[in-house]
This record gives sequence, C-alpha cells and structure tokens, in this order.
Amino acid sequence: MKEEEIESMRKVFHNLKGRIEPLIKSPKIQALQKRVIDIRKDAIDNNEELLAIAKESFKENDIDCFYANDDEEAREILLNLINEEIEKSNIDKKEVYIAKSKSNTLREIDASQFLEEQGMIIVETDLGDRILQLKKDDNSPVHPTGPASHLTVHDIADIVNESMNLDLPAEPMPIMEAVREDVLNLIDKSFIGISGTNSIAAEDGAVLMVHNEGNISLVQSKKLHIIVAGIDKLVPMIEDCVSIGKLETAFATGKPLTSYINIVAGPSKTADIEKKLLKNMYGAEKVAVILLDNGRKDAIKECLWCIGCGNCVVNCPVYNVVGNEFGYHSYLGGRGVALSKYLKDNKGSVDSGLYMCTLCGMCTENCPVLTPTNKIIEDLRNTAQKEGLSREPHKKIRDNIKDKGSPY
Ligand code: SF4
Repeated sequence: MKEEEIESMRKVFHNLKGRIEPLIKSPKIQALQKRVIDIRKDAIDNNEELLAIAKESFKENDIDCFYANDDEEAREILLNLINEEIEKSNIDKKEVYIAKSKSNTLREIDASQFLEEQGMIIVETDLGDRILQLKKDDNSPVHPTGPASHLTVHDIADIVNESMNLDLPAEPMPIMEAVREDVLNLIDKSFIGISGTNSIAAEDGAVLMVHNEGNISLVQSKKLHIIVAGIDKLVPMIEDCVSIGKLETAFATGKPLTSYINIVAGPSKTADIEKKLLKNMYGAEKVAVILLDNGRKDAIKECLWCIGCGNCVVNCPVYNVVGNEFGYHSYLGGRGVALSKYLKDNKGSVDSGLYMCTLCGMCTENCPVLTPTNKIIEDLRNTAQKEGLSREPHKKIRDNIKDKGSPY
C-alpha cells in the first residue's frame, strides 16, 4: 500500500473507532457479546457434529450441499455447478455474467480470478468491492466491511472516471449513482449469483447474510445461487446466526443493525395454488452450498472463533502502519497471519507478517469474541523458529546469546 493510502485508512479507522466504542460499551451489546462468545466457542467445539447435521438439514431444505477439502476442490465444485447451469440454460459461454457479493471465503479460494480465467465476467456488486475491481492494480481490501477505506473520494473519482470513461466530480453521490447504474445493468445480465455467508444454522439448514446495500438480495435472486462458506461458520440455530450478525454489525460499523438481514433456507417456491408445491417463483431456482475445510479442521479452535467484524485491524498498531501487507489474502491483520498457518503453512504465516506483530494484545482486547491472537502468534513463532523459519537478525541474536551470553 502507498503511504497516502495508509494515511487515509488511518483517518477512516479513527472515525470508525469513535462510532464503535460508545455502542459496544452499552449493556445491551455487552450482554449480546457474552451470548455470542458462548455460541462461537460451543460451535467450534462441536464443529464435526454440526457439519453432519447441516448436510442433512440442507438436503431436507432442497439445498445442494457439497464439501470441499481444499480450495482446489472448492473451485472445481463451483465450476461444475456453473457449467451445469450454462448447459441447462443454453447460454452462450462467452456471455456468462456472474453477480458476486463480498466474501472472504470467495477471495480465499481465488474464485473471481479462477472464473475469469474460464472466460466468465464477474460483477462485484458491493460498492467498495466494485471500486477495487475497477482499480485493477492492487485491489486488495483493507477492512472486511469497508474494503476501499484507504481510497479518498478523489482517488475513487479517478478510478471510476478512467475505467468507465466518465467525467464525474470528486463527490460521493454522483460516483455512487454511476456505479449503481452500471452494476444494475450487469446484474440484469447475470443468471448466477455467488456469495459467502455470515453464519450457517446447521439445525435449520439455513444461511444468514447481513448487508446494507441491498446487493445480496439481488445476488441471491439469480437462477442459481451458490454460497461458499468455511466450516467454521457453522452454529446450531438461526437465532444464533442473528445474534452473531448483530454483534458483528456493532463491532464493524458502530451501528446496532444493518439495513438487511437475509436468510436463505431453500430455493424459491410457492404453494398458493391448491397448496401444490411449485418451485421457481421469484428467487433462485437452485441453491447450492459449498462447505470449505481448507485446513480449518487442523486449526487451533481459538483461531476459528472470529465473526469477521475487523475491529482487530482497526485497533492494531502494526496494521495502522503497514496496512494490508500484514495479513493473508482477505484475512487481515494478526488473525489473518495466524489463520494462514492452517490455510497454508508455517512459511505462509511468516510471509504474512508473523514477525511483524508486536504481541501488544490490542486485537484480543478489541475482539468481540476475545480471540487471543497475540498468544496464538507467540505460539506460532515458537513452532516457526523450530522449523528454522526465524528472521536472520533474530537468529544472530539467539546465536550470540548462546555463544557469548549476550545478544551483542
Ligand atoms: S498483538 Fe499483534 S496483531 Fe494483535 S494488535 Fe498487537 S500487533 Fe496487531
């Protein structure tokens, strides 16, 4: 990230903190936080059981459920589902538009890049993500719910004007209106929607998504809606998902609720004519869920408690100085570094910034589910150095202590 982008990001984070802090100190949010901590801990402790229940519940709800051991398998399943739909609908392969909503898991499996390589056109429907998509170079997000928080309105106007051949002033409203019109046209051309989810209710066979823009409602009303989610998103019931969504919103935005909470528990259907079940009314004709392991089964449990609010990076001194270089894919900051050990390996976590962390613990203190990221990072450094993955200056200090009894 450029120095001026980091500076803009810091300003946005500073304002965000001012909104979040009063809300998360309220007794209602603190009571919700206690509930969600229990929900997440129990869910991760019982992940395997929930996985088995979810597979059955999705089947009962007429949702196709797939299990992917790793990112490659997830991409293969995704492509097969899309190709089946292309054949069924007799669509020209060169004209496949796919409406996509924001998802860390889709970024984790490089879904957009992979599908574009197959000749498909991916339409980012979230405004921040769409701006990053139009930006082309370095389109990594800097915050889970504010992916373009490092760009000023002038940067965004330049990006939009250049890529859409417009001459808009550097003002938020005309930019939003121009992108909205363009994206709505592209969503109209899409017959497949892909998304992630905030959490999955195993017993109810349902997924829940929180959003403000209304874009997810459009994505999930396409003929085929595919949801890709890590197995760590599983919780027992839809009430648990709602609690998690509310807490995530408070810690991510400083607001008690998003404009929309969508729950998908099956394809579109009606029984309004003689109570006979008819599929395919207004929403998706087919819904498929891909549950992704990709190293999560071997991860330490604390690393999977995360609800994805991003408050850790807002408060992380390292992230505020180096930006999204500190993290792995769209898993930003220290928690992303910790997770990369399981999604990739020890080397992956070193490359994501294992030795950048100051171990200050601000992330843990500001995490709604108290993920002990600093402790996890400290443990991972132990393992990494046993594998010979220490930094050269650290090795030198260690050798000096061993040989001379002094680091110098
Ligand atoms: S412990 Fe590390 S990851 Fe956590 S806030 Fe401090 S520097 Fe950031």
